[in-house]
Amino acid sequence: MGLHRGIGVSPGIVLGKVMILDTEHGRAARRAIKPQQVKPELARFDAAIKSSIEELNDVYKQAEKEMGKETAGIFRFHAIMLADKMLIGPMRRLIEEELVSAEYAVSSKLGELADRFRSNKDSAFTTKANDVEDLSTRVLHNLVGQRSRLRKIEPGTILFARDLTPSQTAGMDRGKILGFATDLGGKTGHTAIVARALNIPAVVGCQSLTDAAQDGSMAILDGDRGVVIVNPTYEQIQEYLGYIEQARVFKLSLGELRDLPAETTDGTRIELLGNIEFADEVNSVLEQGGEGVGLYRTEFLYLTSTHEPSEKAHFEAYKRCLELAKGRPVTIRTMDLGADKMTQARNEIPERNPFLGNRSIRYCLRSLPMFKRQLRALVRASAFGPLKIMFPLITTTSELRQSKYLINDVMEDLAEDGIEFDRNMKIGMMVEVPAAAIMAGVFAREADFFSIGTNDLVQYTLAVDRTNERIASLYNPAHPAVIHLIRDVVRAARHQDIPVSCCGESAAELEYVLLLIGLGLRTLSVNSGSVPRIKRMIRSVSVAQCERIAKHAMTLDSDVQISAFLRDRARKAVPEAFDGRSAD
Ligand code: PEP
Ligand code: MG
Repeated sequence: MGLHRGIGVSPGIVLGKVMILDTEHGRAARRAIKPQQVKPELARFDAAIKSSIEELNDVYKQAEKEMGKETAGIFRFHAIMLADKMLIGPMRRLIEEELVSAEYAVSSKLGELADRFRSNKDSAFTTKANDVEDLSTRVLHNLVGQRSRLRKIEPGTILFARDLTPSQTAGMDRGKILGFATDLGGKTGHTAIVARALNIPAVVGCQSLTDAAQDGSMAILDGDRGVVIVNPTYEQIQEYLGYIEQARVFKLSLGELRDLPAETTDGTRIELLGNIEFADEVNSVLEQGGEGVGLYRTEFLYLTSTHEPSEKAHFEAYKRCLELAKGRPVTIRTMDLGADKMTQARNEIPERNPFLGNRSIRYCLRSLPMFKRQLRALVRASAFGPLKIMFPLITTTSELRQSKYLINDVMEDLAEDGIEFDRNMKIGMMVEVPAAAIMAGVFAREADFFSIGTNDLVQYTLAVDRTNERIASLYNPAHPAVIHLIRDVVRAARHQDIPVSCCGESAAELEYVLLLIGLGLRTLSVNSGSVPRIKRMIRSVSVAQCERIAKHAMTLDSDVQISAFLRDRARKAVPEAFDGRSAD
């Protein structure tokens, strides 16, 4: 009952009927079989594995069409797991040696594996546990010939689940499922990525939502704000119907902006770029009116594959990205693995404090052959379009120097082999650690450009884990400390005459856009879905107005006050973008 707050991971407001999905993933009870039943039981087991692999290959093909090859890779990975003898062998042995049913063998072995992943507090392992449970559910369904409950869904359904797996999300019938909400999950999980790619409004991390609702309850799901209302009152329904209509009209009006420049009312051009996780997403950035790519998060090449991508796989992804961008600027970030984004290869060495651990550029500089493979592919791709490279999480000058040195090394090798590349390629860095922001003046002498990553900068400045739903209210980019750091980074970049952009999620929030422009930023990079709204905001304000807003914000000492002030100014600038819901 009532209002539940979570994390909005995919925008849109929907009103529908709740269906609760049982995601305890049907652990089968131990059932004994007779020795003479072993052979038919094994045959039944093999057939279920085979059907599951076939189903996964079908899901892969469907997902590939809808979301592109890289996102769909998650399902290829599932199919590969099921074909792995190391995983399947112990289940067969359990049937043969302990005389148990195939259902029990599957649920106990995969259950053990999922529990092992889940007992690790790291959210990356939880994602792996979900993958394993997803497989378990699929095989069990095939064993008992049960059709997935997901397929029996009525039109107009809002799905509630403790957690959802990527393949459950991708397999959703968009004609029937309006949106979904889960108790668990964070913004960076595979499920959230798939929801955004498929445009399904979604809220995750609602904690106890499934306990509070029943099948058939009415619900409102607000993916913009991360709110779910179970059994809304008549007034709430009327209110939200109004928001839905406002959003529809506003979205329609944004279509006209596509080919217009992102220019303030006093004629200042703001470069509006897109953030992407997969090369094919360049298309949606351009369709939405973005002018290029400001951040390509290449770690997703690793996360959607069972093994490290080859130089060829890297090269093809980057070349494709540049080709799709058709001469527009593309900034590719070297892999930012670790913390909440883990690879298969790193699973065995969990860290106690992964966000402060061997992640990102630190990990790359300790895994030189792997890093160099990516750098070679990047430098080779520079022959195919205006490519810039940037390094994540730079904290010390030696990290920047070593990384640049490696690029030089790679260039020398390629030149020796007579392979073409752009020798003048710009090499920059993310500013996302307070140490780098404070020392921006020093870094500006050695980096060709800066890109401010507010997602991490806020997390490290305020000491608030960006993936922890329990302290989400403390995570505020409007904290004065963050604003001071951004101002200083922009100043340092200007002083050294190097470009500076912002590619954190704040750049995609209407109120922070005013602040960022007021602090001197002229390049913003946002997720493709946010490009039209941000362009509308840019076209509604003057630089002088933004500067006044930034100046006033800097006189305030509380993040809550600053947030309220910025929200008020954004609301005044583009009232249609706000629907009367109070700021939270
Ligand atoms: C950031 O930290 O702001 C950023 C853009 O990088 P990521 O979200 O991939 O950490
Ligand atoms: Mg970051």
